[in-house]
Amino acid sequence: MPRSSTPQTLSREITISGHGLHGNRPCSVRLVPTAKASGLVFVHTPTGTEIPAKADLAGDLVLSTTLVKDGVRLQTIEHLLSALSGLEIEHLRIEVDAEELPILDGSAAPWVEAILQAGAKGLEGRRRFMKITQPVEVRNGDRWIRALPFDGLRLRYVIDFPVPALGRQSRELSLTPEKYRRELGAARTFCLAQEIDMMRARGLALGGSLDNAVVFGAEGPLNESLRFEDEAVRHKMLDLVGDLALLGAPLLGLVEAHAAGHAMHVALAQAILANPSHWEWTEETEPANVRFFFQPSELSIAAQPA
Ligand SMILES: [Zn+2]
Repeated sequence: MPRSSTPQTLSREITISGHGLHGNRPCSVRLVPTAKASGLVFVHTPTGTEIPAKADLAGDLVLSTTLVKDGVRLQTIEHLLSALSGLEIEHLRIEVDAEELPILDGSAAPWVEAILQAGAKGLEGRRRFMKITQPVEVRNGDRWIRALPFDGLRLRYVIDFPVPALGRQSRELSLTPEKYRRELGAARTFCLAQEIDMMRARGLALGGSLDNAVVFGAEGPLNESLRFEDEAVRHKMLDLVGDLALLGAPLLGLVEAHAAGHAMHVALAQAILANPSHWEWTEETEPANVRFFFQPSELSIAAQPA
């Protein structure tokens, strides 16, 4: 079961700067604690537009997740959302001064590290979970994703690329903040070397490099090393955690994904929200549950094979 029964924000502000993966423009993000349990809300500071992290505002989903409201776009939000959701920080004002969030090292680890250093702060009220009671499925040929009833949040992910260097990878885990930090947070985004020209021609991945992505060539990764033997499927799970944050509340269920991606992750979140008879609200957590406090010993980011 998830570990926090209290809604959480950060105990202090965090600012992180970098450049966008796709547009390659500089950008700065300020995470501002909220006084009340009001969800995750982005603010595009040049226009003052507030964009709640909600699935119905998700737009362009090619290779990243984008929120769109009143003509304002915020691209590549998924790694920050993943770190926040993985660490159960669900209430925050997220000020962004550009249209794309920084890619940093291509994983959620820099966000995770900053969040752990700032620490969590409990807010008044009880944490409410969306508990799946009947299966919800989205299918597109042999790609599919579904949420099934389960006591906790468990993820099962399979990818299958017709490239020997990547091939088939699968992983399954019950999510807790500690497992998120240890097993998913440091997994970097990836692509195939053969896709790079196509992506650049479409104006995508202009800021991409071996410093912020794993690139798989015919023989294997072009990077010096991998952080995990199955880093690719772990990154897909990291993306899934971020995209599921667009539900607007933590999920209790088993989520199985087969060869899915951002579009299917978001489609599942939208299908769950569109089918309120397939889930119910609950505040139930483990009886011995205590709030998740960050300990100094948890500050280092483990990047070793699990
Ligand atoms: Zn990603």
